[in-house]
Amino acid sequence: MDFKQAIAQWAEILPPASVITDKATLNKYETATYHTPHSVVAILKPNNKEQLQQIVKIASEHKTPLYPISTGKNWGYGSSVPTSNNCTIVDLGNMNKILDFDQDLAYVTLEPGVTQKQLYDFLQSKNAPLWIDATGSSSQCSIIGNTLERGFGHTPYGDHFSNVCGLEVILASGESLHTGFGRFSNAKAASVYKWGVGAHLDGLFSQSNFGIISKMTIWLMPAPEYTQVFFCNVNKDELSELVNSLRPLRLNGTLKSAMHIVNAHKAVSAFGQYPWKEVNDVTPLPSDWLEKQCKKSKIGGWNASGALYGTKAEVALARKKLKNALKHIKSVKFFFLDDRLIKMAKMIKKPYQWLTGVDLDKALEIVEPLFALKQGIPSNTFLPSTYWRKNTPAPAADEADPDKDRCGLLWLAPIAPMTGQHAVILEKIIEDTLIKYRFDPAISMTLLTERCIDSVIAITYDRDRQGEEERALTCHDELLKKLIEKGYYPYRLSTHAMGQLPQAEKGHGLAINKIKQALDPNNIFSPGRYEN
Ligand SMILES: Cc1cc2nc3c(=O)[nH]c(=O)nc-3n(C[C@H](O)[C@H](O)[C@H](O)COP(=O)(O)OP(=O)(O)OC[C@H]3O[C@@H](n4cnc5c(N)ncnc54)[C@H](O)[C@@H]3O)c2cc1C
Repeated sequence: MDFKQAIAQWAEILPPASVITDKATLNKYETATYHTPHSVVAILKPNNKEQLQQIVKIASEHKTPLYPISTGKNWGYGSSVPTSNNCTIVDLGNMNKILDFDQDLAYVTLEPGVTQKQLYDFLQSKNAPLWIDATGSSSQCSIIGNTLERGFGHTPYGDHFSNVCGLEVILASGESLHTGFGRFSNAKAASVYKWGVGAHLDGLFSQSNFGIISKMTIWLMPAPEYTQVFFCNVNKDELSELVNSLRPLRLNGTLKSAMHIVNAHKAVSAFGQYPWKEVNDVTPLPSDWLEKQCKKSKIGGWNASGALYGTKAEVALARKKLKNALKHIKSVKFFFLDDRLIKMAKMIKKPYQWLTGVDLDKALEIVEPLFALKQGIPSNTFLPSTYWRKNTPAPAADEADPDKDRCGLLWLAPIAPMTGQHAVILEKIIEDTLIKYRFDPAISMTLLTERCIDSVIAITYDRDRQGEEERALTCHDELLKKLIEKGYYPYRLSTHAMGQLPQAEKGHGLAINKIKQALDPNNIFSPGRYEN
């Protein structure tokens, strides 16, 4: 391994601004929302595919490891920090072109630096009746980095990796590979047909370290004629009923999108900060405080939100089916929302408050961003939730920087079959473990596909509070172990969790190792990433 020679050669082929070695910037890239042990030796910022290919060739020649990121905002999963020591980060943020757009066939082809906001603004500028699927993370997050981690959002296109094709991959030799039909230079259907012909390779390049993705085609959702968002909440002991009643609607297509169900802890922490003074510095959140807050803000034990899409008649029918399916749950309360209602609430908010004392502004602050997300509109609204346990006020959403401000956040995201029984087992394991370590069990359960629950658990803490980080990491490890013992494996791993999966069948490991050997014999791509 000869990093010195590699950096000298990179400096010859890249503009000076694309080769960064100053300590302050390296520190920034080495900082996540939890303790990470790995240092970074340089940052390279290629401006195009050719520069990227040269970077890779030089790295291979000198056997020096690279860690590619798209925008590096993988907060709670490791941010931009590599999975091993002495990596050079390849920050693809400058490769941010929208290379192709077909409005009729509803797709775009992007470079890795394209952000959620950039793509959203692009479609707006074209007046295109098409939606992206946005995550609850920053509008400045990439589309490609998130998709490679198999991240998810809120619309019918919420399972991101299911809605992409045509990956362009830079291999360790510096050559490029196109998945699907893209390997034939004259293929007409490369952007509209996922499988191509022959072995299907796309999956090999997500959650792996076999190559660097330099472009990808993303399918877009045609904007429906009408959208109605619904919120419904039930008592804490009715989670099982809720999941079992929603499943048939997800399976038969009445509910077309990923539905999010959050517990009271999650709902409270999404839009506020820990009430340190009110609870005399006690952690976790005392149940009497939580109960009072839930009553005040009309939060249930479990709170579901989703959207109905279609013509007005289709939405009306789906709404009827939804209400019917849940009517046997005693505590269920519904609230439906559309554009018209939001406009009306804005118009009447002052007289309404004067007459009833109810602050509609406060309610709008919560429901409007959720309404936007269900329509694929990205924002930074949810970032301040990472400051939940900080003792200082959270900044405005657009100023939030969880890495810099030492917010503690570790996600853990197990997948379970979509039955009430599994949901309740998860709930118990998560609550018991987080409370044992004095963290607030903030849980979401997303009905991501027609058949599975994707639960996301946030271990949120203050990195500046003595002892909290150690406790958070131990809590995470114990929770992961317990979940795995019960058969619930995570859909995605934080850098901290990599290497913590148990030994699995021999054949799988053998195949993965052989593929790695064949594609990246010098192990230059992201050593340690999703390796076990
Ligand atoms: C409040 C909050 C809400 C969030 N909500 C969501 C949510 O709703 N859904 C969700 O999925 N996530 C969510 N996240 C997690 C995270 O912020 C997002 O997933 C984010 O999109 C990931 O960061 P990124 O897009 O910058 O990807 P990156 O950090 O750039 O990429 C992630 C990883 O993928 C690999 N990679 C990236 N680009 C390439 C490439 N071109 N070639 C090869 N490998 C590559 C790298 O190993 C990298 O570390 C949330 C986080 C917070 C704090």
